[in-house]
Amino acid sequence: MRGDQFSYSPQSVKVAVPKEIEHGERRVALVPDTATRLIAAGLEVGIEAGAGAAAFLPDPVYEKAGVKVVGRPGILLHDADAVLKVQAPRESEIALLKKGAVLISFLQPATQGDIVKSLAEHRITAFSLELLPRISRAQTMDALSSQASAAGYKAVLMAADRLGKFFPMMMTAAGTVAPARVLVMGAGVAGLQAIATARRLGAVVSAYDVRPAVKEEVQSLGGTFIELALETQEGEGGYAREQSEEFLSKQRELIGEHVAKSDVVITTAAVPGRRAPLLVTADMVKGMRPGSVIVDLAAETGGNVELTQAGKDVDVGGVTIIGTRNVPSTMALHTSQLFARNVANLLLHLVKNAAITLDFEDEITKGSCVTHGGEIVNERAKQLVAAAAS
Ligand code: NAD
Repeated sequence: MRGDQFSYSPQSVKVAVPKEIEHGERRVALVPDTATRLIAAGLEVGIEAGAGAAAFLPDPVYEKAGVKVVGRPGILLHDADAVLKVQAPRESEIALLKKGAVLISFLQPATQGDIVKSLAEHRITAFSLELLPRISRAQTMDALSSQASAAGYKAVLMAADRLGKFFPMMMTAAGTVAPARVLVMGAGVAGLQAIATARRLGAVVSAYDVRPAVKEEVQSLGGTFIELALETQEGEGGYAREQSEEFLSKQRELIGEHVAKSDVVITTAAVPGRRAPLLVTADMVKGMRPGSVIVDLAAETGGNVELTQAGKDVDVGGVTIIGTRNVPSTMALHTSQLFARNVANLLLHLVKNAAITLDFEDEITKGSCVTHGGEIVNERAKQLVAAAAS
């Protein structure tokens, strides 16, 4: 062990994957194909019985891949050197973990301050997928992107399913039907995938983002980039910065006419660690034609639309606002497959010669590690936990 390096016992590293216990979560953190890669790297892999069932991955498929299927989570977790999860653990799960174990999952440090503190108290070395630096070396580990991309795709399908119109222009013997008009607000990973999907279905797509850097990406996907007379809101690391109420109010005023003439509005706007910005007011919804559909992918972080109810569909004078929670979970087979590759790549990044070796000089390890040695070690996580507490 030298300087900033910390190495665990080189005995075979045991990796455990418990069944997700969050209500409605269908994904699983590891799929059989990816487990094979970990086993080939010298790790031992165990999974809780039934953990993959909701993602259409039954236990025998894991067994065939060399994974040990364990009936009781207590036994599985107590023994594990590394635990892979999709959702942040609950207190009841943390209590089962071995001191010094590595945990990789979404942790939502901005809203799960208590869980982060508890992980530190239990001396868990926890990695938050939200805090992974967005550098090209870490792209294969970027679970935020893989899951957001699935959400953007599915948002369009949900809208198309609810819209009483075709997406493409249709030339039929009974006459020509105009294509649907889709507006995407927030052109990050989810928004760009929504633009691409809506275009593939033949809709006329326009998009808006506070970061003009995305203009060319929107255009290359066949969308029209809406430019508003507003200053840009580019923050750090390719993210938007938090916007003032004055800015948002002006934005709503300027985007109003675009919302009114859209058949479908898909909102994906987010600022890391903050409540989702309010982009569409109740009055703007009331100005849309009956039959129009809004999908608010920010429903769980406060919503981009004033009338969104997380986990529900709301009807406002014939306009449907879809506030489905956890959209990636609705595509559990593929989202689990992508998630598994992301977490396995991060785990293998921490493994040298079949032992877990943490190098805190490495940007990826340092950037995503939240708790270690009984402390919250990540400055951003500290700020997020403190901001949430205040
Ligand atoms: P995000 O989920 O935090 O936000 C979604 C989008 O909402 C962003 O594009 C943001 O600019 C936008 N937004 C915020 N406030 C808004 C408002 N008031 N009105 C309209 N739009 C608003 O972001 P994300 O999708 O996770 O990613 C953001 C960016 O990060 C990407 O576009 C990309 O540039 C970068 N990124 C880099 C890598 C990499 O290099 N490895 C990987 C993924 C993403």
